[in-house]
Amino acid sequence: MNTVALDGVRQFMFDLDGCIWYGGLPAPGASALISALRTAGRGVFFLTNVSGATASALSVRLNEAGIQTNPEAVMGPLSVLPRHPRLRDRPPVLVLGTDAVRTVLKQANVPVVTDPMAARVVIVGRDPRMTYGDLAAAVRALDQGAALLALNLDRRVPSANGVSVPGVGAIVAALTAASGTEPEVVGKPSAFFFTEAIRHFGIHASETMMVGDSLDSDVAGGARVGLRTVLVGAGVGGPQPGVHPDLHVQDLDELHRLLIPD
Ligand SMILES: [Mg+2]
Repeated sequence: MNTVALDGVRQFMFDLDGCIWYGGLPAPGASALISALRTAGRGVFFLTNVSGATASALSVRLNEAGIQTNPEAVMGPLSVLPRHPRLRDRPPVLVLGTDAVRTVLKQANVPVVTDPMAARVVIVGRDPRMTYGDLAAAVRALDQGAALLALNLDRRVPSANGVSVPGVGAIVAALTAASGTEPEVVGKPSAFFFTEAIRHFGIHASETMMVGDSLDSDVAGGARVGLRTVLVGAGVGGPQPGVHPDLHVQDLDELHRLLIPD
């Protein structure tokens, strides 16, 4: 694609990890691109798979990184977790994740249990303090018929200095290998998540562009609900058969030049 018209694109949804920032360090050009889009009258929103922080906390981190936003323009899996169909009847859940996950559930009157035998759903987010004992408890719950609900399925998360760390998808893959239970996902690429985002931000899919570094989470997931898609970088997680973005750029500076030429 050699020309990219802003015509018809009213809003942009940006992925965070590997797109807007790397381990909290802003990507080169991120702040300038977002400012330019706002100046051009476009809405800017942030749609992330970060599983250990609320929209409020992410908004604070974005502002600290020099990217001005407010919590209403940020959405992550925790923003919509209590609305997921698996939690509609408030079943007892076992959590592998940070206290932020437990807090969101308790605020929504979803009972959080520590006894795997009492759990009907196992929720998995990223938690650097996760232990083998946590994995064993989750497998015990899954063996009893609990459902497996992943906050995302990202197998790798780009961190600072080009280093990647295991993501929720890697932990979920281990649980599936041990138990045979396939996961459902709250965040990208689920249609549930994108549909909730479109409603939450008050936007229309046909005039929105999803920008991210993951072919499966950002591009395939966005395309499934009718968004235009931009892949930034080589595509974390590797190629996905049959998944093609509408636009592929190396970095946000290139996207800036294409969208808003001098
Ligand atoms: Mg990403």
